[in-house]
Amino acid sequence: MSLLALTLLVFFSSCSLEKQDKPDIFLIIIDTLRADHLGCYGYQRDTSPVLDSLALEGTMFSHFQAQAPWTLPSHGSIWTGLSVKAHMAGMRNMVSYGLDSRLNNIATILREENYVTLGFVNVMLISHSFGFDNGFDHYSVFDHGHGRAGATVDEVLEWLSENKANPNPKLAVIHLFDVHAPYDPPAPYDTRFAVNGAQGETDWITDSLGVVQNPDATSHLIDLYDGEIAWVDAQLGRLFSELRESGIADNAYIIVTSDHGEEFFEHGNWSHGHSLYQELLHVPLIISGPGITPGVIDSTPCGHFDILPVIAGFAGVPVPDGVEGIDLFSQRSPDRLIPSSGVIPGHVHLRDSEEFQSMCSVFNGTEKGIFNFYTMREQFFDLAVDPGEQNRLPLNTNFLQELEYYWSTPPVGHPHAVEGTGVEDDLSDLGYI
Ligand SMILES: [Zn+2]
Repeated sequence: MSLLALTLLVFFSSCSLEKQDKPDIFLIIIDTLRADHLGCYGYQRDTSPVLDSLALEGTMFSHFQAQAPWTLPSHGSIWTGLSVKAHMAGMRNMVSYGLDSRLNNIATILREENYVTLGFVNVMLISHSFGFDNGFDHYSVFDHGHGRAGATVDEVLEWLSENKANPNPKLAVIHLFDVHAPYDPPAPYDTRFAVNGAQGETDWITDSLGVVQNPDATSHLIDLYDGEIAWVDAQLGRLFSELRESGIADNAYIIVTSDHGEEFFEHGNWSHGHSLYQELLHVPLIISGPGITPGVIDSTPCGHFDILPVIAGFAGVPVPDGVEGIDLFSQRSPDRLIPSSGVIPGHVHLRDSEEFQSMCSVFNGTEKGIFNFYTMREQFFDLAVDPGEQNRLPLNTNFLQELEYYWSTPPVGHPHAVEGTGVEDDLSDLGYI
């Protein structure tokens, strides 16, 4: 063998070794997806055959909790491994705050280990303006939140095809916004569950904004919402097929979750952002990849801040100091309490915004306490017998102490206000203010 051939052999061997050592990681965030509208989480409609298959071959976490009921603070917890009170991204007194660039996040810690870090997102709340691109080598933001899942999947596949020769492992964060209102799935998903399709749906939403209650219209909205889920599920089927056919899936982890759910008047409102009930906080977490044992984990309550430690574990990267989440594949903690907060006034804009900003909840998998530090009102629910949170019980003392501890913990993030980027108009378009 010539010296050149030997050199090339060593070069390609080291490339392939590096690639084998570090897996690719795909984090897929389906905005506004409540867990109980997926077949694998018990929904009676066939909305999610692709995700159901992924759940069968991977691990599904049944007690996974969003740590905020709307996009900005929830993504802050996914990015940083911190609770909302710690990273402080969100909205206070009608001013928006992005991510503090001094905080480590899923991209900054993996880039240190030679990962190529990719973001493909579909809403301005997690765009460059809000600091979510920090640590990413490539960060695409589509059309201020009204991109389509099909186009985003195309973009991801195109990037992978054009960069086949890149030997470095990859972190790809793929955020899909279609399930968020307005619900207008393309054909044939518009009539998959809604007989009359999406006609008139937008007008109904504009008129209602959390005030009108119309049971007939509500069921129509749910039909369209489910159609969006089925559409997104099909697009993920395209992505997963390509990952399998190209061989990428052989050494890749796929993580699927959502930032928050959606209310359909279970507690008097529609949409999201303005309460901490389970229709907003119970979101999916499905993880599949090498060495993952198929099954359902229902023993450990968990939340958005666990995603960073899980990703760090897959990549063999140390978890930064101060991260509040745990690696769910190396630690189990059945007694932990998962905090959520970050409520904004949202659609109930006529009421005191401070009242809504002062709410937080803790969840242990079967029980949940919600406390409002402005009104000093508490709610406590036994989800094992009352999953719809309709029967308030006296607040458990341990929960109250945990709520007080969480609420009084000083923040580690001090983000700057995000102003002057048209953000107020965008937030209004999205129905948040
Ligand atoms: Zn969202």
